[in-house]
Amino acid sequence: MTDTLRGSEARILFRDKDTFLAEENPFEAMMERFDHAAKLLNLDPGLYKVLRNPEKQIIISVPILRDTGEVEVYTGYRVLYNTSRGPAKGGIRFDLNVTLEEVKALAAWMTWKCALVNIPFGGAKGGVVCDPSTMSMGELERVTRRYTAGIIETLGPDSDVPAPDVNTNERVMAWIMDTYSMHKRHTVTAVVTGKPVEMGGSLGRREATGRGCMFVTREALAKLRLSLTGARVAVQGFGNVGSIAAELMAKEGAIIVAVSDKSGALHSTTGLDVADLQKWVAQHRHLAGYPKADTITNDELLTLDCDVLVPAALENVITRKNAPRIKAKIICEGANGPTTAAADKILEEKGIFVVPDILANAGGVTVSYFEWVQDRGGYFWDEETVNRRLETIMVRSFNDVVALAEKHKVNMRIAAYMLSIDRVAAMHRLRGMYA
Ligand code: GLU
Repeated sequence: MTDTLRGSEARILFRDKDTFLAEENPFEAMMERFDHAAKLLNLDPGLYKVLRNPEKQIIISVPILRDTGEVEVYTGYRVLYNTSRGPAKGGIRFDLNVTLEEVKALAAWMTWKCALVNIPFGGAKGGVVCDPSTMSMGELERVTRRYTAGIIETLGPDSDVPAPDVNTNERVMAWIMDTYSMHKRHTVTAVVTGKPVEMGGSLGRREATGRGCMFVTREALAKLRLSLTGARVAVQGFGNVGSIAAELMAKEGAIIVAVSDKSGALHSTTGLDVADLQKWVAQHRHLAGYPKADTITNDELLTLDCDVLVPAALENVITRKNAPRIKAKIICEGANGPTTAAADKILEEKGIFVVPDILANAGGVTVSYFEWVQDRGGYFWDEETVNRRLETIMVRSFNDVVALAEKHKVNMRIAAYMLSIDRVAAMHRLRGMYA
């Protein structure tokens, strides 16, 4: 156990000191915006202290048997940032770059995100430091089940409800649900969201984050008196969020001029065929080698002449280095934390309209909420109902943030933080302090 913890601590130190500029520490990035919003809200010093700190941070070792018979030990985290508004809610990611600092930031973002769309959840996040692309299905299942068992005391429909995130999917959620249910000695579907539809998942959940991005992009374009029809969109990241956002925007008439994934970026001024790209990725895993488009670099994609840029992969993609060269009119943050605080200032000076992550990608957790409601009620909705209710919440939240931004003359991100921090703070005031 000590060895693994030492390993992961060393990684944090290494990243912080050598490769991680202060600009790229995700928790600091979150805090910089939090401080700005808290000051404008005149948040009282006591509440400020409470909201700056995560409620609970769990670090576990996750030992598993590899297929070779060898034992491997991974490090797993679960951070419950704030549960004042309801059960903790947030995804679990399996990735080599997971650190406690990152999970803390992502858990805080989930807290603000749930408050922003006004659903009755707090915020959490989890992660295991591992590389699923090098693991067999059996190994992945053993990591998932052992991690679930390791954090089982916090889990539960009333306390902490995980969901998919980077490199986790419906399959992983099904194992979590089963492991939890075996420990409880009865089936508990509402312990996790983003499950397969056959086992209590919600219709529309898989597409929800991308669909939410499409709705708010449409609203942002309308605000600038533009339309999705004919808008030129570049999408960075072609996973669940990016590929579906591209697909749904193309269906609304947008021209997808570029997409990228880890393997490279593709470009076409006349528009890429998103369905064909999805087929290619299903067969070849990556975009690389796709024959019907030009290749460009990731930096060229980010700085392409287009109307909308959708960063839909990981944190720290838009930094002080590339922000001055970004030409998009709108940035719609499908990923969590894709823009650094330093880049925010540059984008604001350039007059780029940013739909911040906690609004832009909130469609996922909104339909997670619908899934949790359906599981608890034992009554399931058709897809059209899910999508319509999602649209109502996304459009209302977008308008709420725009109204606050205009009232306080701040950018969309600070307005989004103000709205959500104010809602969490209001709950704390009403509940009082238990001591
Ligand atoms: N991982 C997603 C997010 O970052 C979804 C979380 C959820 O549905 O609980 O918003």
